[in-house]
Amino acid sequence: MRKKRTPIVDLPPLPRGRVRIIEERCKGCAFCIEFCPQSVLVASRRFNSKGYHPPEIAKPEACVCCNLCWLVCPEFAIFSVPLTGRGFQRAREMEETGRLLVSSKEVS
Ligand code: SF4
Ligand code: SF4
Repeated sequence: MRKKRTPIVDLPPLPRGRVRIIEERCKGCAFCIEFCPQSVLVASRRFNSKGYHPPEIAKPEACVCCNLCWLVCPEFAIFSVPLTGRGFQRAREMEETGRLLVSSKEVS
């Protein structure tokens, strides 16, 4: 009979991120929706100016900032900014100084 093993130390807290979507770049392929391990995204009913349905954020609190959505997006239209852990301070500085790659007008 196998014994169930339990960790001897507490698991580290999950990282958290804030998803950013550049709707005008999106071509509605839904890769980000399909591949998100936390099911953060759903297809929206809105159209962008090209006539595609960009994703929208259904569960913002569930994002673990893995950036898989960014990896699979062919248009570089989505990414996540860390809210905790490594990179958080740098991301915050970049947001505050407007040095993220896109203007705040484009990003939802
Ligand atoms: S960063 Fe990861 S968890 Fe967050 S929306 Fe993208 S794929 Fe999902
Ligand atoms: S992967 Fe990129 S282009 Fe495709 S739906 Fe998501 S944001 Fe839009």
